[in-house]
Amino acid sequence: MIFDEVRVIDDTEDNFTYIEKIIKSNEQEDAFYVLDVGDVAKQHRKWLSTIPRVEPHFAIKCNPNETVIKTLAALNAGFDCASKEEISQVLSAGVSADRIIFANTMKQNSHIKYARMVGVTNLTVDSEGELYKMKNLFPEANIIIRFRCDASVAEIELGSKSGCDPGIEAPKLVRKTRELGLNLHGFSFHVGSDCGEPMAYGRGIGIAQNLIKYAESQGFQNVKLLDIGGGFPGADKSIDEIAEIINQALEGLDPSIRVISEPGRYYVASAFTLASFVFGKKTIIEGDETRNMYWMNDGNFGSFIDHLLEIKTNIPISLNKPVSEKKYLSTIWGPTLDPFDCVIRDYWFPELEIGDWLVWPNMGAYTLSLAGTFNGILPPAVFPFIKREALNLLVLEQKIHPKIGSLLGTEGKHWDQQSKSTSLTII
Ligand SMILES: *Cc1c(COP(=O)(O)O)cnc(C)c1O
Repeated sequence: MIFDEVRVIDDTEDNFTYIEKIIKSNEQEDAFYVLDVGDVAKQHRKWLSTIPRVEPHFAIKCNPNETVIKTLAALNAGFDCASKEEISQVLSAGVSADRIIFANTMKQNSHIKYARMVGVTNLTVDSEGELYKMKNLFPEANIIIRFRCDASVAEIELGSKSGCDPGIEAPKLVRKTRELGLNLHGFSFHVGSDCGEPMAYGRGIGIAQNLIKYAESQGFQNVKLLDIGGGFPGADKSIDEIAEIINQALEGLDPSIRVISEPGRYYVASAFTLASFVFGKKTIIEGDETRNMYWMNDGNFGSFIDHLLEIKTNIPISLNKPVSEKKYLSTIWGPTLDPFDCVIRDYWFPELEIGDWLVWPNMGAYTLSLAGTFNGILPPAVFPFIKREALNLLVLEQKIHPKIGSLLGTEGKHWDQQSKSTSLTII
């Protein structure tokens, strides 16, 4: 039930004060997340006003938290799923199948059959083998051909695994789709996660437009979808420059073509803040150097896969004021016995004590969704909250998105501004 409870907090409060409250009221020891539901809604609004032509489909692999899915569902976003289980999870949040795209280019047979059974008709492919599968298992599907279009700068490059060569392979797949009598619906690309080269989107849109023309020359008059993928930065990075390039590139596009995207990180990175508990400490004195080692209860086999793979290093903020400003060379270990479970190595921190809490902002993307249970350490729980101001905005938006009504609770009572209740249930 804890996952469904969204606490309403005062506008004067923030992530930190809410974290402190949880620690105090629960005698909390386990690591946990707070989720700012208003932040997810804010990112969605920002998208709609900045890139209005493009309909976002949240890539749930980034963080399949139920409250996030329900919030975005109520705001009328679409969803990008990569497996039978992900589709099932989105459907059970009350999303209709036509708002889901099955965007894994390599699909297991049973997953294709499931998509067909539940009415998810948009599926991505990037190879001939996959087209044959579709012919056998889902001949009436809408085929979307994904081509490769890598940004020169991205945190994670995806092109070596997914996406066909746009010059030779994509036209070949168009012809194969024709030959097999399948229904070509559109083209897609993904520039790479956390894209640092905005122009990559412009390139991708240009290539897609050429491919649409090529498809027309091959007798496909109904190519109606352009999917510009994910890769949009989250946390405190702006999407404005990317938006400008996308908007410009789309100016010449036939207005009857529907344009969608698959943002993951963008929606959730800043909404989740992790709090971890320092439960162990060792001080090592070598000559006249003092080094500190700390143990905390989330690690590289939990929320910190980015640290395990050395993709990036998050730096925490101590919730407890250090006794002295003096800094020591410090290492922070995760809770398992694996020496790879080293979250931060040799960083200069003021001294921490057993019982301190560390706060890690911007931890929503590719953290919880990758957390395992190695050594019996369970992934952190999530405590969703919303600020009153953000809640009031959602109440106003109900006129535009009637589905918010269901987000706000059937009775609407919990959400009533006059109500003294401080929690609401997302159903
Ligand atoms: C991972 C993934 C996404 C989301 O990528 P972000 O960089 O988080 O926006 C979107 N589409 C597909 C097909 C993916 O594999």
